[in-house]
Amino acid sequence: MTTTINTPVAIIGGGLSGLYTAYLLQQRGIQSTIFEARDRLGGRIVSLPSSKPTANIDANVERYDLGPSWFWPDMHPLMDNLVNELGLTAFQQYQTGAHLFDRGRGNSPQRHELGIATSPISMRLSGGMLSLIEALATKLPTDAIQLGHQIHLMTQLATGDIALTCATPTGDVTITTQKVITALPLRLLSDTIQFSPSLPDKLINECTNTLTWMAAHAKFVAVYDQPFWRQQGLSGSASSQTGPLVEIHDASALEGKAALFGFVGINATARKTAGRETLIKVTMDQLTALFGEQAAKPVDTFLIDWSEEKFTATEQDQFGANSHPMYGLAASTSPDWNSNLIIAGTESSSNAGGYLEGALASSLQAAKQITH
Ligand SMILES: Cc1cc2nc3c(=O)[nH]c(=O)nc-3n(C[C@H](O)[C@H](O)[C@H](O)COP(=O)(O)OP(=O)(O)OC[C@H]3O[C@@H](n4cnc5c(N)ncnc54)[C@H](O)[C@@H]3O)c2cc1C
Repeated sequence: MTTTINTPVAIIGGGLSGLYTAYLLQQRGIQSTIFEARDRLGGRIVSLPSSKPTANIDANVERYDLGPSWFWPDMHPLMDNLVNELGLTAFQQYQTGAHLFDRGRGNSPQRHELGIATSPISMRLSGGMLSLIEALATKLPTDAIQLGHQIHLMTQLATGDIALTCATPTGDVTITTQKVITALPLRLLSDTIQFSPSLPDKLINECTNTLTWMAAHAKFVAVYDQPFWRQQGLSGSASSQTGPLVEIHDASALEGKAALFGFVGINATARKTAGRETLIKVTMDQLTALFGEQAAKPVDTFLIDWSEEKFTATEQDQFGANSHPMYGLAASTSPDWNSNLIIAGTESSSNAGGYLEGALASSLQAAKQITH
């Protein structure tokens, strides 16, 4: 049986861009519904709780980021303003103490006593970046968010409305709407959603050729009872040319347990071949070689390989970029779709595209288009 939902504006994707778009529309008195394929909100934003919570500490505070960790207020004013507007607690990335250079197997790490101070200042959120998603979600009516709704077909109807065909765990759903805002990576838009009539070739090519930021990467977190590295005068940051982690940072919660995180420097194909268990083992060996025996006894370890996430990465996203690409969408959806189909999501933004800030900038643009 096919169920039908009617909504004036359908937003595809419940990541930061989709949620912020719904929030902005609500402020302008426009009702919208978010359709999210996963059974959770946040998209590339994931903050996981410790499996052994610290007594007296809110479990939502003691969480660790497996997606984005940082925003940079001096560079990204939209993020800074939103964090303040939502009353979230931001704190500076811990970087007091020496930085370590990993010199590979059998060699002791080299200490750089001056450490490495990032500029501009990197800020984190208490409770992880998911706090931002949760704060936005609480501002919306509960029926404005539909989880487990994967849109796979978009059809322009003779009435001028748009029909969205959507797979859900309980069967197909048809959504009829006047306007659609897509808030998902551009590659997923062109590769996983069918359009009738088709989108212009120029737009499809541009979407397919736009790399999804960080989709090729994997992030590892090891949680500890204490930040023992700080007692050794270490900041928790380390760099390595041998890996498996190539860039390591302190990822401790503002309250509660301590943690180290790192980006895995092995490419997606090699990660698959190695397998998860081996990858975690060699990563723990590396952390122990760098930070000492205490590093070998984490409370929790978390690993997310973003290249294996089908609602983030496509086959093409198995390979990352050497540098941050220039984002922004040049091609338009016209003539068949006119202003009824609006494309948002961080990769569509020429302002800070790829970053959280780009997701917000794209939402502002989309909300403006709807209002006009
Ligand atoms: C490991 C990692 C580290 C990062 N570090 C940082 C950082 O420190 N600072 C920073 O600024 N940025 C960072 N980023 C980038 C940041 O996460 C993204 O810019 C931002 O989260 C993108 O938000 P978005 O809403 O545009 O897209 P997404 O978060 O990808 O959201 C898209 C949503 O659409 C959903 N979806 C997909 N297909 C469909 C469909 N067919 N139907 C319905 N829903 C669908 C997805 O499930 C997802 O929820 C990082 C990313 C990763 C992965």
